[in-house]
Amino acid sequence: MTHVTWEELTDRLAAHLTPDRLQHSLGVVETAARLAVRWGAAVAQARLAGLLHDCAKGLTADELLQWAAAFGIVRSDTEIACPDLLHGPVGALLAWKEYGVTDRAVLTAIRLHTLGAPDMGLLDKLIYLADYIEPGRAFPGVEDLRRRAEQDLNQAVLRAMDGTIRYVL
Ligand code: FE
Ligand code: FE
Repeated sequence: MTHVTWEELTDRLAAHLTPDRLQHSLGVVETAARLAVRWGAAVAQARLAGLLHDCAKGLTADELLQWAAAFGIVRSDTEIACPDLLHGPVGALLAWKEYGVTDRAVLTAIRLHTLGAPDMGLLDKLIYLADYIEPGRAFPGVEDLRRRAEQDLNQAVLRAMDGTIRYVL
């Protein structure tokens, strides 16, 4: 999956993220691992994708656009106006180039974690949802969504998407 140890990954990540963002990422690790057990996904993949999902969050808008340009990520007008939307796809690149992750399923889950996609796989859904309901999140309805995540995964993902789309807009 990666030749780097968990401690090394966390240390490296800590150098690139604010303490709050690191705390959020560790919350996603915890929630993604629990959801992986609940829904029968690989816990190691869920933890790794959770840890690194926001690894590009520390980049500036210019850096995000430069990475995207360098790797041929197609940028829409919206993404050029709001480069933060690129932190998923650029994060997948960073996870590969800078953190040594080669597992495509993990990289895909990182890539899709903000905007989602049609035909998301189980791991993609778990990370998408864990990002939304990890213990550090507080918004009206989060408790309900946490319960729902244990009962009906797809419905919970749809709810989370609804919230994310509103936020992104
Ligand atoms: Fe994110
Ligand atoms: Fe996140």
